[in-house]
Amino acid sequence: MKGKIGLEEHFAIPETLGDSERYFPKDVWPRFSAKILDMMNIRIEEMDQYGMDMMILSLNSPAVQAICDPARAVYVAKKANDAMAEAVAKNPRRFRGFAALPMQDVDEAIKELHRAVKELGCVGALVNGYSQIGDEDTYRYLDDPIYEPFWAEIEALGVPFYMHPRDAMPCNTHMVDGHPWLVGAAWTFGVETATHTLRLLCSGLFDRHPGLKYILGHLGETLPFCIWRTQSRIARERRGIPAKRPLYEYMAENFWFTTSGQFRTPALWNTIMEFSSSRVLFATDFPFEEVSDACLWFDGCAMGDRDKMLIGRQNSIDLFKLAGL
Ligand code: ZN
Repeated sequence: MKGKIGLEEHFAIPETLGDSERYFPKDVWPRFSAKILDMMNIRIEEMDQYGMDMMILSLNSPAVQAICDPARAVYVAKKANDAMAEAVAKNPRRFRGFAALPMQDVDEAIKELHRAVKELGCVGALVNGYSQIGDEDTYRYLDDPIYEPFWAEIEALGVPFYMHPRDAMPCNTHMVDGHPWLVGAAWTFGVETATHTLRLLCSGLFDRHPGLKYILGHLGETLPFCIWRTQSRIARERRGIPAKRPLYEYMAENFWFTTSGQFRTPALWNTIMEFSSSRVLFATDFPFEEVSDACLWFDGCAMGDRDKMLIGRQNSIDLFKLAGL
């Protein structure tokens, strides 16, 4: 399929590049680092080769969220957003961007969100899970009441929020002690991100802000598969949960799901069957995944032309109001 739009497509700046190094063997790193730093030729060549019209760019992980000093987190977020805006300005037909946000300081996060959307033209925000604040052992999830003004602001702006994975805190990964191969994208990313999302769902966030648009990658970080059971058990024993409605209903109304790093047709159909093809969007997870793997899988995926056009392109145009495409 030609004209695909991808929306989990990462870049790095020198200040955040090192965060990705641990995920790659030494011999692969030079090729990978050249790809993630590039916002021009390498990227566009791959997009052209595999039928991608546009990438919606976002910073690598954990980047800003792991910078304990709030002032430096603000500095790096702004620098990354400026670099991304420059790339978008050079190639507006090929790129848009998600803002990186310094969630360590709520007021600054709101200010940067505003600047990124109103001045830089960002089409949403992408945050890499919880943020570390002050020191490495102090961290805050986004259901903390301190973030209420942030959620109000992003709802008012009407732009989507993308919850992207990061590694869980070491104190939360005892279940994989002695199994380092399960750390990161192989397993713990998904557990961490699904759990963070459940915290938000259960907190009543979507009762207070019914207009929020919330995106999950990796076909929903297992939640489309699991949510029926989670809801079924909560309904039997509510234990004071603040959310007023069944969790599934918020997901149906407020959530979108991308194919990033999950190039598996039965998993795709599970997400479509739960939430419909109008809520699923194409993404690769560049350069952690190969554009060729994502595109060749999606192009050959057994589904009707209409669904393929929705997922590959039209849903993104509608969600991000991509005028002129
Ligand atoms: Zn990613």
